[in-house]
Order: sequence, then C-alpha cells, then structure tokens
Amino acid sequence: MSDAASYRHDPMEDSWRVVAPGRASVPMDTSARGPLLPAPPGPCPFCPGNEGETTEIVAQFPTSADWRVRAVTNRYPVVSTEVVPPTTTGGHARPATGVHEILVEGREHEGDLPTFSPELRKMVLQGYRDRLAAMEAMDGIRHVSVFRNRGRRAGSSQPHPHGQLLGTTVGGRLQERRWALARAHSRREGRSLLDTVLAREIDAEERIVSADEDFVVLCPFAPQANYQTWIVPRLLRGSFSALADEELERLGEVLAKTIARVTEVSGRQAYNLLWRLPPVRAKNDAAAFWYLDLIPRGGGPAGVELSTGLSLCSVSPEAAAESLR
Ligand SMILES: [Zn+2]
Repeated sequence: MSDAASYRHDPMEDSWRVVAPGRASVPMDTSARGPLLPAPPGPCPFCPGNEGETTEIVAQFPTSADWRVRAVTNRYPVVSTEVVPPTTTGGHARPATGVHEILVEGREHEGDLPTFSPELRKMVLQGYRDRLAAMEAMDGIRHVSVFRNRGRRAGSSQPHPHGQLLGTTVGGRLQERRWALARAHSRREGRSLLDTVLAREIDAEERIVSADEDFVVLCPFAPQANYQTWIVPRLLRGSFSALADEELERLGEVLAKTIARVTEVSGRQAYNLLWRLPPVRAKNDAAAFWYLDLIPRGGGPAGVELSTGLSLCSVSPEAAAESLR
C-alpha cells in the first residue's frame, strides 16, 4: 500500500480527517507505553471496605453486601441533580442540572474487561445498561454519555476499573451534530446511517477485523486516532438500554477480545471506550443506532489538530485492521 496521505470524510460527524502513513516514521513518544496510572494518594474509594469514601450508592448488582458491580454518585460531578443557580451574571448561563454516576466494575482493584471472568463482564454490561435505562427515564435528561477512561492519557484518575454515566439536560455540540446527521441520512436514504456505513464496510472488507452473526469489529474509514476500532451490532438498533442479557454476554466476549488485541497491537495501554448513543428522546426513532467506539490514546492533539480541527493518523485503518485480525 502506498504511503500517500489522504483526506477522508467521516459521515458520522461530517468532518474531514487526515490519514498520513508517511508520518509513522516520526519518532514515537515511548511514554505512551509506560504505566497506566500513578497510584493516587489515599485509599481507593472503589475498593470494598472503603464505602464511606464514596458518595451515595445508587445501585448494587447483586443487591446484597457482596456486590460485584455498583453505581455510586460521582464525588466530583460535572452536573448536579440539585438546581444550583450559576454564580455568573451576563451572557447565557443556567443551572448545570443532570446526573453523574460512576460504575465500579468489580471488587478487585486491578484488572480490566479482558481479565474479568465472563460472568463479571456480563454483570458490568448489565450495570451500564440498567443505569442508562434509569437515566433515560429521568425527567429532562436530553443525552446520556457512557464512557470508560483507562489510563492517565485517557483522563482517568483512578486505577480501579470503572466507567461513568453522565446525563445532561442540554446537548453537547457533537451529540447534537451526530444526531442531526443520522436523522437527515435516514430521511433521505430510508435506512439508518449505521446500516449504510456497515454495508459499505462489509462490502469493502479491508477494514473488517472480525465478524460473527451479531457483531462486526472494524477500523473506521476516517479514524480520529491510530487503531481506533468500532464494535457494531449487525441488527440491534435504537439504544444500548434495550439489549437483552444474552446479547450483553456475547458483546462482553467481543469487547474483551477487542480491547486486549487493540492495546497489544497498538502498544498503547490507555484508551477511551465510548458508547455512541442516540439522544434520549430519539431512542425509538428509526434513525437511532448505537455502537461502541474504542479510541487508543497516545499523544494529545498538537498544532495541526488544534488549529485545523483535522485529526491526524499515521496508521491507516486498512493497515490497522490487517494487524488486528
Ligand atoms: Zn480499588
């Protein structure tokens, strides 16, 4: 394959990205291979026995004292269920209402989805599903973001495996843009944007990592990071909150394999895992879809990215998929 750089269009966000394989010879920042996180001071607030350190426990799975997975309110919330008037005057400001929870993934301080037992993995995904469903049912919540940050480079401050759910009463620019594009595509083409993209990728083959009857793992055509990988459900549309237990079990296996493979091949231990979800009001719309987006984290954006808004990759998704297969 040629090393020629290409501009590539991402239909999910209507944005251009640059794939420049020639830049792979720029010396790599080897600190991306270093430890995931320095140990934070003090006892881990997510370990059993330190329950007093966390704020309110919202839900436990199972509900008994020997919980395996649990949701707690975020001690440092971005938004609040209380209506706190903003302290600023002038311009446009209103109380940052919403709900912000942490999902603690197991009682063990170490580990990650690939090292969890299948049973724990399923329970973790059930936890995300059930808390997402609860937030979707709350009054006034417009969008729910579900994500896991692993490693300092991905913005994490705690090594204990966990993820977050953030329900906001306003829509973020990206969330609103993605939904507007998805809806417009569906009205125009008579099928969802994800169906169109998936059909094109299955046809092209070269960016497919693996595929079974339920899930397709692929490297997106216009990636925002090296080795970015999507896990796309073949048929399940709408919101992640509608998944059945058996579907979560199969997804857990695919997700664990994908994370293990991507971190190994990319040499980057830190990553963000994002649940790409429709807005709450649209979760039953024919245009609605969800998928999981795994983004390995190396260096942050530099001058090119910050000044142009064009993300820059040095590993083409075709080459990434080939080495991940
Ligand atoms: Zn811990």
